Amino acid sequence: MEIKVRIQLPYEVEWVIGKIRDAGYEAFAVGGCVRDTLLGRTPEDWDVTTSARPEAVKAIFERTVDTGLQHGTVTVLKNRKGYEVTTYRIDGEYHDGRHPDSVEFTPNLLEDLKRRDFTINAMAYSHETGIVDEFGGMEDLKAGIVRCVGRPEDRFTEDALRLLRALRFSAQLGFEIEESTYAAIKTIAPNLAKVSKERVQAELTKLLLSAHPERILLLKETGLSAQIVPGFDAVFAPALFSELSRLPAEKPLRWAGFLLCQSAKQAEAVLKGLKMDNETIGNVSRMIEGAKETLPLEKPAVRRAMSRYTPYQLEGALKLKELMGSPDVEEIRRLREEIIRDGDCVSLKEMAVKGRDLLEAGVERGPMVGEILNHLFDLVLLHPEKNDRELLLKEARRL
Ligand code: ATP
Ligand code: MG
Repeated sequence: MEIKVRIQLPYEVEWVIGKIRDAGYEAFAVGGCVRDTLLGRTPEDWDVTTSARPEAVKAIFERTVDTGLQHGTVTVLKNRKGYEVTTYRIDGEYHDGRHPDSVEFTPNLLEDLKRRDFTINAMAYSHETGIVDEFGGMEDLKAGIVRCVGRPEDRFTEDALRLLRALRFSAQLGFEIEESTYAAIKTIAPNLAKVSKERVQAELTKLLLSAHPERILLLKETGLSAQIVPGFDAVFAPALFSELSRLPAEKPLRWAGFLLCQSAKQAEAVLKGLKMDNETIGNVSRMIEGAKETLPLEKPAVRRAMSRYTPYQLEGALKLKELMGSPDVEEIRRLREEIIRDGDCVSLKEMAVKGRDLLEAGVERGPMVGEILNHLFDLVLLHPEKNDRELLLKEARRL
């Protein structure tokens, strides 16, 4: 079915589609960009699907990158941006539940749309044809439904990543998962074990950063949570999930909120299992630790916290405390502001005495230097006015 609607395409996409058409082939914007534009969302990227073979696409454009020739994808460069142009294709048999054993090019757009995962992702658009919608994508888009193209069990069996994509789109768009699609997710859930942990992590991160992070609970309801990494099933604490959307959509914060019922160590193990980058693991772990630490409402304690966590981690920990209903956060923030305003010393680097000064004052090189520094630092955290070179050296001599 062709639906006569006019979509605003970016200039570069019009240019790419126009050049391919001028060379005598078909070309359409397709997939996520059509879906998002119809929803009034800004697409992350624009994909083009075409009847032209990759060699033909390369011959049409001056500047291209061979992104995935065996899958028919060429990236066309225009105005310093890249546009993926993929030849219409039929995916061959899937044996590993993740990658088609082969792909076959086809001159038929409908064959290409049929291989796509969900009806809302299986629409193509060009100014000439309007929206090409063979699977009721427009209707599902209006009704807010995620529905497989074709038989759900077959589609999830072919590619188990789609199990998570269904949940992720539901969370990003606020859509319901259609009944038979949902039933198939439950049935095929064990196949998720075949998907690489990096890809699982990337989908879960998108889900957590979405407008509906609370839908992470669907993992539990569908049985997918048991297939993610050991220990993952234990992290479900639904009471807090409804609050997750109050956290800014930042990767460490949303993950920390999700894992808040775990110890920092357990959270680290889950994230390591998911091949998360070390920087994020560190921030999540520290935020959880900070959130669980009792923080007395007095400046020395707040200074100490400021010395032990980066500003980003401490603020994250405070946001998590708020999520848990702590009434103290506002006061802690106020104390922190005053400490910053007064320029109180909150790190060894800011202390008026350094290791070098102690050596010059005759302290023997060795563990003693660190011990004295730490003692002086404790003193300064308690009495910031004592962050004075002479005063501290005097104190050091007393030790
Ligand atoms: P986003 O870019 O927001 O993640 P998207 O729908 O554009 O969402 P992409 O991964 O960019 O998703 O894929 C582009 C299109 O390719 C999809 O809209 C869909 O038509 C198709 N597609 C992607 N991954 C799969 C898959 N695993 N199975 C079937 N079709 C897929
Ligand atoms: Mg996309």
